[in-house]
Order: sequence, then structure tokens, then C-alpha cells
Amino acid sequence: MKNKETTISSRVRSLAPSPTLGLDTEVKNLRAEGIPVINLGLGEPDFSTPAHIVRAGVAALAQGFTHYTETPGIPELREEIAKKLRRDNKISYLPSEVVAGVGSKQILYHAFQALCERGDHVVIPTPTWTTYVEQVKLAGALPVYCKLTSPFKLTALALAKRFSPRTRVLLLNSPANPTGATIDQEELRRIAELAVRTRIFVISDEIYEKILYQGKHRSIASFGPRIRERTLTVNGFSKAYAMTGWRIGYAAGPERLIRAITSLQSQTTSNTSSIAQKAAIEALRGSQAPLARMRQEFTLRREFLVRSLSRIDSISFVPPEGAFYLFVNVQRLLNHRMPTASAWCAKLLKEKRVAIVPGESFLAPGFVRISFAASMHDLKRGARRIADFSRGR
Ligand code: PLP
Repeated sequence: MKNKETTISSRVRSLAPSPTLGLDTEVKNLRAEGIPVINLGLGEPDFSTPAHIVRAGVAALAQGFTHYTETPGIPELREEIAKKLRRDNKISYLPSEVVAGVGSKQILYHAFQALCERGDHVVIPTPTWTTYVEQVKLAGALPVYCKLTSPFKLTALALAKRFSPRTRVLLLNSPANPTGATIDQEELRRIAELAVRTRIFVISDEIYEKILYQGKHRSIASFGPRIRERTLTVNGFSKAYAMTGWRIGYAAGPERLIRAITSLQSQTTSNTSSIAQKAAIEALRGSQAPLARMRQEFTLRREFLVRSLSRIDSISFVPPEGAFYLFVNVQRLLNHRMPTASAWCAKLLKEKRVAIVPGESFLAPGFVRISFAASMHDLKRGARRIADFSRGR
């Protein structure tokens, strides 16, 4: 007989757990056993949170700012986020059109819950971060993929082919995880026009906005009031300010949607950490020099990785325009012993002790994601081992 106490709902049973967090646990377990592993699977900056931001968090603690706050975040923070969006993204939002939450991941979850009816379609360009896919399914909606091939540049034309009367939401992520590709400005304008014309709502995840190696970031909501009123601009502190553990992200959009997200939040997490909120204010108000230094370091690592891996004939990739990942085609290296990118990565981990994420985790079989959010020391050793492995040595 079934043990009723431990019966898990079909909704959660069918959920695919986060593959990147899974890999991270595997690396931690191997290290705990004393096995040294070079981890190039990370989705977070390896830098420490800048000292002035940490000090603001410590001061919040010392001052006893340790209680529940307003559900969408303290007014001072929402004001600061609105200022940032005006200054950096040229979009004008009132603080009442901003909500802060426990990382942008949680905000995205609430947004899909708030927007989707059962059976609605959500168009997601792939390769993609599969959190979107699982969150869409949890909301009872259906992910519809717009499959991109290298160099993974999204176009309005490709999207239009995937739209139908059942399409409710379009998910954009530029710069993108895992490809590092961005959406070109003119194309973004066309996508905005398409969304307005077809009355589709846009969720624009701009969390890698500050980690950009060429061009300038543009927010889709900045193309005018008609697209602004049907866009949720999502962003956070994790990547730009190396604040992954603080768990704070935010979104801005039409007040009705922000109220709905806030209402959901009031029944799930109440509010994000009061301490993280104070630290986030300092991140936006204080010196942006650490961010520039981090970007500089990422630029050097990107150049190194591109240079060293382009010497391997059997693999191919396009240098990323943003984020901190190299998305590599390893198809030519697959064979009956290693038929998939997952098998390839497993063997790389077993034989060379290098952890990278297989493309299956991003709906892109035949590819692997190599993160350069790791020290130059690790990158050098990691790249050498990947090269040896690729050459069958
Ligand atoms: N969006 C993308 C594309 C990501 O890659 C990640 C993290 O890996 C997030 C959002 C979530 O960031 P956080 O919840 O830490 O704000």
C-alpha cells in the first residue's frame, strides 16, 4: 500500500530540479570527500560582495533593522530601484510599480503565477535557463519554444512564427544564460512592436545587464508607453553586485501586476530580508567602482577562455556578448561511448575533475556551458584539462 504521508503531488513530482544547483551539490560532495574539483559550472560571481555593501548590511543588523518589512520592500529601496531604472534603463516607474523579493527567481515564479491561466502558452527562446520552463509548468501554462541556432540571435520574425492566439507571455533574457547572446536593439524594437500588436505580455529578465562586453544594454520597456504597460522588467543584485546569497531581486511593471505579485508574496515569503534590503540600497547608491572592476576581470577571463579554447578544432563556439558563460558545441566529440553532452560532462568530471554543465540542462543537447565566474588560476587549469579531454588525452 502507498505510504500516504510521503506521497508527493504530481505537480512537484514532474518538476525537474535545478540542474546547476544539482551540479554544485555534486562538486561540494566530491570536495567533502577530499577530491579536488575545478568548478566551472557556477552561475554566480566568485567575487565577494563589495565591502561598502556588506557594511550597510552589518549596520542594519547592529541598528536592529531585523524585523518584517513592507511586503514589496521598504519604500526607500523601491524609490532607489525606480531611480536606477530611470537612470540606467530610461524607463520611468513609480515606487508603487516596483516590487523587491527573495531573488529574481522568486519574482519570476510569482509573475508566471500572476499572469498565466491553465493552458496559456508562454514563448521561451531556447537554449534557455530551465527555471523559466519549470515555473511556467508550475503555473499550469505551457512552454512553447522558439529554437535558436548559433549564434543564438533572437529575431521578431522567429518569434512571430511561434505566437498563436493562446500565447499569453513572451519571455526575454538578454544578455542570456547560457549563451551570452544579446538581442540587437533594432530587433528588440521589432519585438516590442510585435508584442504590442499581438497583445502579448513580456517578461524581460535583465539580470546580466551589467555584465556586457560589447554594445549597450537596452530595456524593451524603454521603447514607449505601449510596450512599457505590457512588460515586467526583472532584475536583481545577485550577478551585478555579487550578492547571490543575500537573496534579493526586483521587478517593475504595471501597478496591477505588481499588486498581484505583492499579494502572492504576502502569502509565500512576506518580504525579502530586511538586512538584504538595506544592503541593496547601498549597492545602488554607493560607489559603482567594484562593478567596473568585476567587469574588467570578467573581460580578461573571457578573452583568455576564448583564446585557449579556440585552439581546439573539434569544438566550436561564439564569443559571448554578455554574462559569464561560454556555450560550446561539442557535437563532434560525441560517440557511442559518450553519446550525449551529459555523458561527456560526466566523463570530464570523473576523469579530469572539471565540472561544467551539459546543454541538456538548457534544452540544447550537444552543447556544454563553461562558466568563467572562476579564478584565472582555475580557468587556466580547467581549460588545459578540457583541451586534453577533447583531444582524447
Ligand atoms: N535569471 C537568470 C537568467 C539567471 O541565470 C539567474 C541565476 O542563475 C537568475 C535569474 C536568478 O537570480 P537571483 O534569483 O539570484 O536574483
